[in-house]
Amino acid sequence: MFVGHYAPAFAAKAIKNSPGLAAGLLAVQAVDIGFFTLTYFDIEKWRPNPDLPGMRKIDLYYMPYTHSLVGCLIWAAVLGAVAFALSPQGRKAIAGIVIAGLVFSHWLLDLIVHRPDLALYDDHDKMGFGLWNYPTVEMPLEIGILLIGWAIYLYASKAKGWFGHVTPFVVLAALLGLQYIDWFMPVSGDHTQFTMLALVAYFGVGALGLLLDRTREAR
Ligand SMILES: [Zn+2]
Repeated sequence: MFVGHYAPAFAAKAIKNSPGLAAGLLAVQAVDIGFFTLTYFDIEKWRPNPDLPGMRKIDLYYMPYTHSLVGCLIWAAVLGAVAFALSPQGRKAIAGIVIAGLVFSHWLLDLIVHRPDLALYDDHDKMGFGLWNYPTVEMPLEIGILLIGWAIYLYASKAKGWFGHVTPFVVLAALLGLQYIDWFMPVSGDHTQFTMLALVAYFGVGALGLLLDRTREAR
């Protein structure tokens, strides 16, 4: 799952005094940012497997630190604590809870689409409902999840000026464009290239969150 992960970050803006959208958009992908960084150093591992059915023909065969249930809960707790520490008085608790929740939402959404490669802990007891094997179900579901989150954001916020009416649609178009590339770009097997593209995309989307925060405010 890629852009579907952003739905909880958008929806969280409906919560009073929730942290900035950029932080939320990075939080929901935090364990993937970790995964791509660790695969660059060959600590977590994937390999192309053209024989897999459906879409996303890569075998994610070792990701204990970022995508095990226990691993992801640790990421959520640590990043929630960081958000708590960095937030101003009066907003600390809500920031910590929202960021921790958003980090963990990644695992729950991954569980729907991943083949059984999400461990309970370390590399044991792997889970995944495997909707990637059924693109005709996965693709509309992922876009639908994104649109629900985006619509909640649109409803929960209002434009500061005329540009703020346009930016949500610009961001949505950018996300759909990135998802198109993600779905239809062939996987080369080049780990460095894959890591760099992924990190540019994740931080680029974070920057789009800054754009939205500058041009819109809570209703
Ligand atoms: Zn993931």
